[in-house]
Amino acid sequence: MLSRRIQTLSSSLTIKISTLANKLKSEGKDILSFSAGEPDFDTPELIKNEAKKALDDGFTKYTAVPGIDSLLKAVSDKLKRENNLEYKPSQIITSNGAKHSLFNLCQALIDDGDEVIIPAPYWVTYPELVTYSGGTNVFVETDDKSGFKITPQQLKNAITPKTKMLILTTPSNPTGSVYSKSELQDLADVLKGTDIWVCSDEMYEKLLYDGKTFTSAAAISEDMYKRTITVNGLSKSVAMTGWRFGYLASPNDELISVMKKLQSQSASNINSITQKASILGLDESVDDVVESMRTEFEKRRNVACELINAHPKLSVVIPDGAFYLFINIKAVTNDSMKFCEELLELKGVAVIPGIGFGSDGYVRFSFATDMDSIKEGIKRIIEFIEQKGI
Ligand code: PMP
Ligand code: GLU
Repeated sequence: MLSRRIQTLSSSLTIKISTLANKLKSEGKDILSFSAGEPDFDTPELIKNEAKKALDDGFTKYTAVPGIDSLLKAVSDKLKRENNLEYKPSQIITSNGAKHSLFNLCQALIDDGDEVIIPAPYWVTYPELVTYSGGTNVFVETDDKSGFKITPQQLKNAITPKTKMLILTTPSNPTGSVYSKSELQDLADVLKGTDIWVCSDEMYEKLLYDGKTFTSAAAISEDMYKRTITVNGLSKSVAMTGWRFGYLASPNDELISVMKKLQSQSASNINSITQKASILGLDESVDDVVESMRTEFEKRRNVACELINAHPKLSVVIPDGAFYLFINIKAVTNDSMKFCEELLELKGVAVIPGIGFGSDGYVRFSFATDMDSIKEGIKRIIEFIEQKGI
């Protein structure tokens, strides 16, 4: 018999739909997929060259569990340089993608009955990681009127004696909302005096638009620094989704120590070649290529938002970051799952139902796809709505 825990776990909806779209495509169907949260760009040549060199040098053996010293130093330097955060290399653990870091974190922190506050809409994976660890999700609802951001009062109302952690994602997947420094400060004020941890998922920090700047939650104050676990990776910023590199950092030596223990009994270290390549991915020398991808994403965002907001039955809050549009389809239907199934079947367009992110009546459209596909995809979505007469 399978464990009770595993029987309650759901598969990742984002992965499920993007896998289905790829399968249909490989069968020769005319599919346009806006489902995967994955840059369409290739990993920069500079980074690939480091990997080739590592292979040629025979860097193919086990390494220390949290990662090689030079990699941990590169993460520490990056966090200092870009995020104004001081972490010793010994306070950092690299894992197989930020998803793995988050999994390990939930396993290390959450006990049966602990509550974790998650602003909704949320990335599909968080609630599953929390329940798999025995915890209870406490969702705090936001919508397009609030720019998909929680208020200090909402946070205050969600806190109970059982609250263990708050998960903050800025920029957000799926909405692209970004908390400003003063908004983070206001949330930090609510947490002061509590023993609540903050998991700050900063995967999309490099993808900001309209000149917006990024603030790390841990950089808000000494109090926030102590309670925050900073999580990040290279999947989105330098198009390294397949390499599986993520990390987390915390000044809490006890937490880091148990997490190293956990990883020593599961994945051990991450791929040695990825480690060498990631040192470069974290370096300033890739800033230009990151900026060229960001500029392209911004152009696509502008075009896509204009096309969507021009339609009377669709609307989208223009995202400040990441590469997703969380499109309001409520004037058409609240049943986002049915909408997405029919759209894929009738028009060959794959988007993710908002229900998977905790908000029905929306769909997530990834614009990490070429401009022509974006224009054609939105045209098909509009034809779909009009043909159905809904
Ligand atoms: N956090 C967020 C908000 C994400 O969208 C993703 C999905 N890529 C991850 C973490 C995990 O990314 P990865 O495991 O590829 O580092
Ligand atoms: N995070 C990406 C997404 O939201 C990749 C798929 C996944 O890991 O969920 O689409």
